[in-house]
Amino acid sequence: MSKYETVIGLEIHAELDTNSKLFCNCDAGFGGAANANTCPICTGMPGVLPVANKKAIEYTIRAGLAMNCEIANYSKFDRKNYFYPDLPKGYQISQFDLPLCREGYVDFELNGEHKRVRINRIHLEEDAGKLIHGDVTGDQSKSYVDFNRSSVPLLEIVSEPDIRTPEEAIAYWRSVKEILEYIQVSDCNMEEGSFRCDANISLRLFGSEKLGTRTELKNKNSFQHVLAALKYEEKRQARLLDEGETVSQTTLLYDVNSGRTSPMRSKEESHDYRYFPEPDLVPFEIDNEEVEQIKADLPELPNSVRQRFTEEYDLPTYDAHFLSSSRYLASYFESAAKSSRDPKGCSNWIMGDLSGLLNNAGQSIEDCLITSEHISQLVVLINEGSINGKIGKTVIADCFESGKMPKQIIEEKMLAQISDSGELADIITQVIAQNPKSVEDIQEGKTKAIGFLVGQIMKETKGKANPQLVNQILREQLGV
Ligand SMILES: [Zn+2]
Repeated sequence: MSKYETVIGLEIHAELDTNSKLFCNCDAGFGGAANANTCPICTGMPGVLPVANKKAIEYTIRAGLAMNCEIANYSKFDRKNYFYPDLPKGYQISQFDLPLCREGYVDFELNGEHKRVRINRIHLEEDAGKLIHGDVTGDQSKSYVDFNRSSVPLLEIVSEPDIRTPEEAIAYWRSVKEILEYIQVSDCNMEEGSFRCDANISLRLFGSEKLGTRTELKNKNSFQHVLAALKYEEKRQARLLDEGETVSQTTLLYDVNSGRTSPMRSKEESHDYRYFPEPDLVPFEIDNEEVEQIKADLPELPNSVRQRFTEEYDLPTYDAHFLSSSRYLASYFESAAKSSRDPKGCSNWIMGDLSGLLNNAGQSIEDCLITSEHISQLVVLINEGSINGKIGKTVIADCFESGKMPKQIIEEKMLAQISDSGELADIITQVIAQNPKSVEDIQEGKTKAIGFLVGQIMKETKGKANPQLVNQILREQLGV
């Protein structure tokens, strides 16, 4: 075991799902022709005046409440000054000393253990534009800039350094993503870059109160890459400390291909940004009534859904976690569970066959042809004995392709279970007659051969025989 304790904090950035940008009326959506969604305000022309987007402020408060924060009664925007080609104004409008939300926390589970990460603050700021370099354009001599993303509202969620392992960092990051998706303030699309994080990491001797020198990993939008980068950095810092060297406070780049970090620039302190109150925007007051209203409109959050699923539907923790991983899936499951009155049955089909079909097709449950009614009907048909579980697998695969209801597929393909004892008895008699060797084995006590005969009967009935009935009649006829 290492003598060092790892200390990690995350700054998570999530683009808000508002229609317009933070300080102008431009479309805030992803994509579009380069620089099509821009105006003099979001391209930083002189003399223009920004106007704050009320929805973005509401969404920030919504996120703060969902993460148990205190909401400020008085807040303001500040200028963060720095130069970069994707920042046309030469400064970013952000929040410095009076953020909208403070002192919250996120609870989650990791390997069955309860964890809490405290949140220092959540503030609202504008996103920067996007630079497109030679590795994308193919021409190494040119870089391009697209200001469509410039001034899109961005949440920054800053955790306290409460995280102790890279795995915990990812579990916390995932929990924040779930919450933001549930409350519908961000689509958290990692591929489009609307959900990303900076991680800082330091090591200290176990028992020491003082934090070690930290390094920062910038702007990552992949769980896997952050996990790998943190693990690498944890080892690298331990090696430096073991050798009596010092860790220098730097911002690091993680190279996915080599699996190593390298310094990008020395880390700025907040005074380097010369923050000052944004003179073009007035400070604003938020009254408690408004906050209470936003609180009342919050949906049930993932942790509560999880707990309710285990209590109300008696689901195992694993199922409850899986089914509550998105708001859509949770309500999909719940409506199937309610109408079929068999929650565990529905859970099994959703987590098993349906998930398999979705994975194979690379589809999400939102745009799949199988609705919660399909699942519910399938479970009811199996429970009633109309079809057996094995035929159920054929039926669900057909539903997935055609969108037809299970009942219709069973009728069209004549898949209904054979539960007529007379009909089954004839088939069984015939199978017994065709397999004298197995019958002899069974009579000698080798009961394994019964399974073989059952298999033959199922084959004869194309899998449609009622398995319990087959077993019963077969044993009667064999006298075992
Ligand atoms: Zn604009």
